[in-house]
Amino acid sequence: MDLNPNHFPEQALIALQDVHLQTALGRGTQNADGRRRQVMAELDDPAALRQQARAARLRALVDLPLLLEQMERSVIANGGHVLWAETGEEANRLIVDICRRHGLKRGVKSKSMATEEIGLLPYLQQHGIEMIETDLGEYIVQLDESHPSHIIMPVMHKTKEQVRDLFMRKLGMPPTDQAADMTAFARKILRENFLQADFGMSGGNFMIAETGTVVVVTNEGNGRLSTGLPPVHIAVVGIEKVIPTWEDFATLIQLLPRSATGQRLSVYVNIFNGPARPEEPDGPREFYLVLLDNGRSDIYTSEYVEALACIRCGACLNACPVYQNVGGHAYGSVYSGPIGAVVTPLLRGKTNAAPLPFASSLCGACQQACPVDIHIPDMLLKLRRDLEPTQPPAWEWGMKAWAFSMEHPLLYQLGGKVAGAATRSLAEETGGRVTELPPPFDAWTDHRDFPPFADESFHDWWRKHRGGRP
Ligand code: SF4
Repeated sequence: MDLNPNHFPEQALIALQDVHLQTALGRGTQNADGRRRQVMAELDDPAALRQQARAARLRALVDLPLLLEQMERSVIANGGHVLWAETGEEANRLIVDICRRHGLKRGVKSKSMATEEIGLLPYLQQHGIEMIETDLGEYIVQLDESHPSHIIMPVMHKTKEQVRDLFMRKLGMPPTDQAADMTAFARKILRENFLQADFGMSGGNFMIAETGTVVVVTNEGNGRLSTGLPPVHIAVVGIEKVIPTWEDFATLIQLLPRSATGQRLSVYVNIFNGPARPEEPDGPREFYLVLLDNGRSDIYTSEYVEALACIRCGACLNACPVYQNVGGHAYGSVYSGPIGAVVTPLLRGKTNAAPLPFASSLCGACQQACPVDIHIPDMLLKLRRDLEPTQPPAWEWGMKAWAFSMEHPLLYQLGGKVAGAATRSLAEETGGRVTELPPPFDAWTDHRDFPPFADESFHDWWRKHRGGRP
């Protein structure tokens, strides 16, 4: 996978021609989006709950510095350790230090986008520490020496047949077409890894400041085994994930699984309050929380602060027509889809991910799907403005002409008639679609056809059927 967001246009073209990818994406995004709509519709008042969730996230962001301090105090009071990492590199260093201090050599990890973001696994490998991914999707990605293509479903890009071939090649799995058999095969291997690990790692979906709790939502039980069995648990969590109270958690947990996987509730909601107490026979003896900044403070002080309200459910990816067609790898970033197109330039520097804010039709499906109503299209537009503060003269003149015609209805209608006649005549020559527009509009038809204007304009239809002025 090419991890350069500036290569998005080339990567998208490759993705569009990949038949397996198109099959996997079609199935994956449609299933996920359909399930989300279904379970959201079951709620008494989904719109009100959504606004309640949005308010909870925005309130938490307002108090972010105070909540982080409260979180730190609570974790320490529970017997855990808190480490602050300004950059990804610092987070990696801190984790290796913990491993050295406790003599840890072999870890298991549940799914965490934060650790993907900081490139933890290759860093640990360089330092002689083995780490096994235990989320099935992440495990497949690790075997494939690739990267997740979706925040929630890391192997959205693979068909079942591709996973079968990978397991047969890398693990020696006997041939099968049954997903259940493949899962059982991987599960057997992963069980051994849980038992042999001397430390476990996780991310965190939420941090609850009032009790110093890290919450990890999973469906496979690997989160619990990764963090409960080994003697040391290290959680790496982005600083934006902190919320003040369990009451807010109660609001957000109604929406996260619904939006992420179309479930009313995930199978496991793991709640970590630090290391095991002396009287508890199970659980880790040491608990470390690494609070990851890695550019989030800069977003916090910018006009894009709302992007930090994201609860990483992935619903905007499934709903996005661009993601549905090109998948996650084309974005060249851990965070893909609409929210990835916002946060990647903000985390990596706008010019290092310049094409991403333009990888959107601005249809608004992302915002509609978002359980916390993040105004993604607005932020994409602002990023476009930042990246291209001055438009080419032709664009400026075109916009002025458009504004002038909108203010003069007769001119607008005349323009419509001329454009209608022109596009219809061009379409006649090429069998119904305009395949080549004349300059300066030809850039449009470089990549797609242009549908000719309808024979009858809406104005004309209105006049005919309803009478009077439109
Ligand atoms: S922006 Fe909204 S829909 Fe997209 S991942 Fe974040 S919370 Fe989910």
